[in-house]
Amino acid sequence: MHTFFSEERRGDYLFLRDKELKHLKVRRIEQKEKFKVIYEDRTFLCELERLHKDKAQCRILEELPQESFQVNITLYQAVPENLKTFEEIIRGSVQVGVKRIVPVISDRSFKRREVLERKLQRWEKIAKEEMKLSGRSLPFRIEKVESLRDLKAEAQVNLLLDNFNGKGSIRDLNFKAQSYSVVVGPEGGFTAKEVSSLRERGFEPVLLRPYVMRTQTAALLMCGMIANLSAT
Ligand code: SAH
Repeated sequence: MHTFFSEERRGDYLFLRDKELKHLKVRRIEQKEKFKVIYEDRTFLCELERLHKDKAQCRILEELPQESFQVNITLYQAVPENLKTFEEIIRGSVQVGVKRIVPVISDRSFKRREVLERKLQRWEKIAKEEMKLSGRSLPFRIEKVESLRDLKAEAQVNLLLDNFNGKGSIRDLNFKAQSYSVVVGPEGGFTAKEVSSLRERGFEPVLLRPYVMRTQTAALLMCGMIANLSAT
């Protein structure tokens, strides 16, 4: 079933405008046809009541229950110099069930905070696109930019992807928790100082086998494993 995003509700109606309206037209949705509309993080089953020139009027038939996927994964992603790679990571994060992504500035990451802050709108658009494609209605958050030195191990399980010092086996990790955080380095990796500081703050080093991976591969592999192994 198709999914659209609305920013406007009046009584029992949700309205689609601009890009969402265009999308509805491209999909050739007809009167009385049913589809999902996400409004303020809630999902509604709707049918098309009327198509106007500048908006589609959708009648709310019922509110759909929230998806039952409950694992809370936060990805702290050091921003790669190539910002296209970060966009790829946003897309993948939506697909594999990450709840929040936090763009992180580290010694070897992309560093211009003001450039990143201006990207937020574009990133949100990309995330929405991906939600539609993957059938996800659970909200996905793109948080404010943070510095690596300010990260706190606040989840029940806090992991640091570390291709040098990680030891043990993925099998020994606790996959019974409700909340996880995953810290991933930029293309150039972390410095030794960054790694030891994160460990002191409670992030547990994890080595993925068998090879060194690109930052996007490591991030999505780890988050995807958590989502699948800990889902109830
Ligand atoms: N040339 C860099 C490679 C960094 S890869 C270096 O020598 O450090 C980018 C990031 O992906 C790493 O900082 C780490 O967080 C993650 N990563 C890549 N491969 C990994 C692996 N096999 N195990 C754990 N983390 C890995």
